[in-house]
Formats: sequence, structure tokens, C-alpha cells
Amino acid sequence: MQTHFSEAARAKPHIHEADRILRTCVHCGFCNATCPTYQLLGDERDGPRGRIYLIKELLESDDGDDQVTQETQLHLDRCLSCRSCETTCPSGVEYHKLLDIGRAEVDRRVGRRPGERALRLGLRVALVEPKRFQALLALGQTFRPLAPHDLRDKIPPRQQPRRVRPDPTRHARQMLILEGCVQPGLAPNTNDATARVLDRLGIGVSPAPEAGCCGAIDFHLNAQAAGRDRMRANIDAWWPLIDRRGEATSSPAEVEAIIQTASGCGAFVKEYGETLADDPEYAAKARRVSELAKDLVEILREEDLESLNTSDASAGLAFHCPCTLQHAQKLGGAVEGVLARLGFDLAPVRDSHLCCGSAGTYSITQPVLARRLRDDKMDALEASSPQTIVTANIGCQSHLNSAGRTPVRHWIEVVDEALTA
Ligand code: SF4
Ligand code: SF4
Repeated sequence: MQTHFSEAARAKPHIHEADRILRTCVHCGFCNATCPTYQLLGDERDGPRGRIYLIKELLESDDGDDQVTQETQLHLDRCLSCRSCETTCPSGVEYHKLLDIGRAEVDRRVGRRPGERALRLGLRVALVEPKRFQALLALGQTFRPLAPHDLRDKIPPRQQPRRVRPDPTRHARQMLILEGCVQPGLAPNTNDATARVLDRLGIGVSPAPEAGCCGAIDFHLNAQAAGRDRMRANIDAWWPLIDRRGEATSSPAEVEAIIQTASGCGAFVKEYGETLADDPEYAAKARRVSELAKDLVEILREEDLESLNTSDASAGLAFHCPCTLQHAQKLGGAVEGVLARLGFDLAPVRDSHLCCGSAGTYSITQPVLARRLRDDKMDALEASSPQTIVTANIGCQSHLNSAGRTPVRHWIEVVDEALTA
């Protein structure tokens, strides 16, 4: 794609990066065929190619150009950041990076209505601090019957109290785990089940107490500076446990990996190195953290799973592969492979490349589209009448569960139960 930036504009880092990405697009439109919002709305501006043109026009126009309107912002807001288009694109266009640049620029130029600003700030305040989120969730669960219908669907019932985790220090192999911001409240069993399964494989799993939200929610809501601060805070929390140079030889084993059980967090932590590449203090540490970041499935698929005794590998499972696992981390088929090795039967799911509509905070900021995508996804998942749907990301799990249909769980929970039966 030809671009028309002045030399002065190209000297700005974000324009330089956008220009590089725009020039890789050959405007073939193949990406539209796998874009969920294009399929729903049929408008070129709600597909990847149209959004790329909108961003190009936006960045090439001058400040104050009245062609940049809230309509441009709306079409960019409707994008799920699902990256299905990137999987399809034959030219390797890094669409998600261009989208981040475009969203920041359109917000700077046209601003946000007060209601939208309040919603976005409220989401960031409510979601990113685990203790605060758990307190709000407990309040919501108490008053759930009184909540409006739409909100009630999003508040899950209280879960059983956590079961005790095994002592991680009894193993020579050690890994860190990112507990996440909303997952400990919404699905407290996921990380415990992970610790129990890995314990059987001789791996000790511990959280770094000071690590918190990965920063993805801030980035989703166009608060990139706050997101970068969260990345640095997590690096500071992990670094003393990663870098053992200079310690006595009797100190604990080096950590092999930083595990994420939510694929949305995993995709984001794997990009810490790239996102903080220009930060002189953190660039090298961020690169190391990204190298160590692993989705849970990447750990399990390397282990001797056949030595585990799965006495209750239940039939009747369907797997929803999150976009952050298949399109961002390129791990499509990995969970299915692990579950098959453990003896589970999985039903095929049509249109498995399509997003369920969760997409970070999309289900709250774009509720109508998100509900349509959710219901279409549930229809596809339920086609084989499974007893349980499993997935690999807390956002997808909560969003799909809000339909009140077949229960949706993290896949490690059904593995844990099969092993402990
Ligand atoms: S498939 Fe790739 S190259 Fe073709 S229009 Fe879409 S982004 Fe551009
Ligand atoms: S990220 Fe998803 S919703 Fe956005 S343009 Fe690409 S395919 Fe469409």
C-alpha cells in the first residue's frame, strides 16, 4: 500500500512504525473473509482492510482535519483485536500494532464522550487490582438477584472455597505463575488445579506476591502508559526470582518458566520485550521475561503425560480456542493435542477461528455485537451436545458462561478432576 507521509511525519516513531506496517498490506481483502465484525455487519469499514484504510487516512491527515470523526473511532472501537485477520493475511500485516497506533491517535483527535470516559475509567479501576475486584465481585454476588438482567448475567455464582495447593518447594523444578487480576475471583480453582497437575509431574509452582494485572486491560482501553507501568511493576516482582546470579549455591532452583493460565495474559506478557524495547532500564529484563512466558499448554505438551493415570477422562467435551491462544500465540490445536493424549474425546467445532465476543472489555463496551458473537459461538460449541465446554482464557469462560447454557470451564480443571478421581 502506498503511503504519503512527509519526512517530518516519518521522523515520529509511531508514524514510522505505522508506515512500515501499512506498506506490507497489498489490499487483497482476504482478511475480510475471516473477520467476525465484517461477517456480522457487512460494512467494509468494519473489516480489517477498511480499518487499515481508515487508520492510513487518519494518520496522513492534519491535526484539525474534520474528516477524522467519531465515526472513524466507532469502526476502530468495533474491532475485537482478535487477530483472526493476521492469521489469514498472506502478507504478514501486523494489524494489531497498527490498530493500537490508530486508536491512540483517534482518541487524541476526537476525544471521548463523558459517559464513555467514565465507563472506561471505571473498568480499569474495577478490574486491574485483584483484591479490589474480588471485593466488588463479592458485593455483586450478594446483591445478584437485585441487579439488572444484563449485569446479573455477568456475575458468576460463588464458587467452592479453594482446595489447598501442594507445597512447591518439594520439587527441584520450579516455575512462577501469574495469578491474573480477575481470574482468582471469577474462577479461583483454575490456578489451584494447575498447581496440582504440575505437582504430579514434579514441578513446583509459586506466584510472585507483588505481581498483578499483566497490563492488557489498560492497553485495551487505550491507556498505554498505565499498561507499561504495570509491565514494569510485574518485571520488578519477578526479577529477584528469575535472576539468581550472585546468590549462594544452596539458593532455590532457577525458575524454568512464567506460566499463564489465561491466554490473554500470556499473549500480552510474551510482548513485554517488544513493547518495552525502547526503555533503557527495562528492555533487557522485559526480553528475558517474554522468553520465560509460557502458556500452560506449552508446559504440559512437553511432559510425559502418558505416565499420568486419567481414570475419569470424561466424554462430551467441546473446546473453545481463544483468539489469544490461536491467533496471537499461534497455539491452535495445542490444547486439543494435550487433551487427546490424556484420553479425552473432543467434538469438532465449526468456525473455531471466530471470536466469541469477549475480547478483553469488548463485551462491556460493545454489548450488542458481543452478545451476537457469543450466541453464535455457543450454537457452534453445542452442536455435538457436550456436557462441558472447556477453554483457556478467563474472559472467554466468563463471557460464554453469561449465556447460562452449557457450563464453561478452564481445561486444566477437567484434567485435574480426571487425575484425582
Ligand atoms: S489480507 Fe493482509 S494484505 Fe490483504 S488486505 Fe488484509 S491485511 Fe492487507
Ligand atoms: S482483529 Fe478481528 S475484528 Fe479486528 S479487523 Fe482483525 S479479524 Fe476483524
